[in-house]
Amino acid sequence: MRSSSSRIRTRHRSDLQRLFLTARSGASVVGVEETDVIIVGGGPSGAACAWAVRSAGLRVVVVDRANFPRDKVCAGWITPALVAELGITLRDYATANTLQPITGFRVGLVGGNSREVNYARAVSYGIRRTEFDRFLLERSGARLRLGRSLESLSRDGDDNWVVNGAFTAPLLVGAGGHFCPIARRLGAKRGHAVIAAQEAEYFLEDDEEARCKVLPHVPELFIARDLNGFGWAFRKGRYLNIGMGRKGGLRINEHVGEFIDFLKRSARISPATAKRLRGHAYTMYRDSSRDPVGDRVLLVGDAAGVAARRSGEGIRPAVESGLIAAQSLVSAHGAGGFTQHNLNTYRRALHERFGGRRHARLAAHSLVPRSLYGAVGRRLIGRRWFAQNVLLERWLLQRNTQPLMPLFSRGGTGKSNFEATPVVAQRKPRAA
Ligand SMILES: Cc1cc2nc3c(=O)[nH]c(=O)nc-3n(C[C@H](O)[C@H](O)[C@H](O)COP(=O)(O)OP(=O)(O)OC[C@H]3O[C@@H](n4cnc5c(N)ncnc54)[C@H](O)[C@@H]3O)c2cc1C
Repeated sequence: MRSSSSRIRTRHRSDLQRLFLTARSGASVVGVEETDVIIVGGGPSGAACAWAVRSAGLRVVVVDRANFPRDKVCAGWITPALVAELGITLRDYATANTLQPITGFRVGLVGGNSREVNYARAVSYGIRRTEFDRFLLERSGARLRLGRSLESLSRDGDDNWVVNGAFTAPLLVGAGGHFCPIARRLGAKRGHAVIAAQEAEYFLEDDEEARCKVLPHVPELFIARDLNGFGWAFRKGRYLNIGMGRKGGLRINEHVGEFIDFLKRSARISPATAKRLRGHAYTMYRDSSRDPVGDRVLLVGDAAGVAARRSGEGIRPAVESGLIAAQSLVSAHGAGGFTQHNLNTYRRALHERFGGRRHARLAAHSLVPRSLYGAVGRRLIGRRWFAQNVLLERWLLQRNTQPLMPLFSRGGTGKSNFEATPVVAQRKPRAA
């Protein structure tokens, strides 16, 4: 009898075969709309890329299988650097969307004590992906074709891409997340070097809100005792997001179970909470073996495997790769076309921004350096200096990394708006 994983693999293969059997049919296609760039995937990476390509005056179509607003498995933590890169005016954003300023963090070990580190200003924000992603996509100014998957992909007589028999363009951007079909076409393997993460986000009713010990402006982070991941309890106004991410996904369900028990025992969530956590996977840039450049193809975001190591931050690297890809493809367009030589600048630019990659075999399973394994690491996490300077400022907030803003924020004000004090739009979800 075939195992369920082999059945999934077989189905996966036949989906791929169906999708790409049409590739390189060679026939020229009539009745399709011409554009300059087609982006498959309208998450933060695709939307940011579309926004920058549109701003440069090129035509762009975004194809996404979901209708927006759509939800995405994510805690929804973003940094001021990301806000700056996207030129988002926080006050405007917060008029219609939830925006939770974060002025500190509580840090500890799962099952142990924790300590609070406070800053006098907003050092991060909480957003809801369902709102944030729609905002970015609508703002991009791209032509949108939503609610339809990538169903067919071929090349016409001029070697341009034809997507779903509806659009044709000389360049294709794969922004479909970790399981992006364009990334698979370029040979992306699911691989072992992934972050597996699970979360649940829910509206706190009045009594739950009154009892919730997690403060809205102070998210709580708890490092797993084997130092191979961390859990969080994260308020965004009336919403609570709880979850855990683990490198390599080792015993994820077991660790998530222990973490949820700990949250209940410590009265952070109600003992009656029985939320089903949803899971997803993605890859850190340093451990990824995905090549972001193919023949007239660029990959961005999770499709390219660009998440930050240590913190697992994925939204900012996704947006940055989208912006860098836009710059590379706009330059290539102006420099004679999307030749391999011109597109290779993207691979180099990613390397400059995110550093080198290591061989997948060397991708350690721990989220922290080997020198911090075991008891030493656990003791250090309990120290205020280490929690603030290393865990929070170096790994999570990446204080030493400058935003890409000066290069890209055409739509922005050109200056940071970190200090703004946004309000939190509060809306109870409508009953289904
Ligand atoms: C539990 C969890 C918590 C996380 N928390 C955080 C966090 O707090 N902060 C942070 O920075 N990062 C976080 N991340 C990572 C972050 O969510 C991702 O890195 C980020 O969403 C990547 O953006 P993207 O645009 O590359 O892909 P996505 O956001 O996944 O968007 C991909 C889009 O492609 C579309 N698509 C996929 N396949 C097809 C297809 N065949 N045809 C058409 N469209 C398709 C999808 O519908 C989707 O809209 C978390 C991840 C997980 C799993």
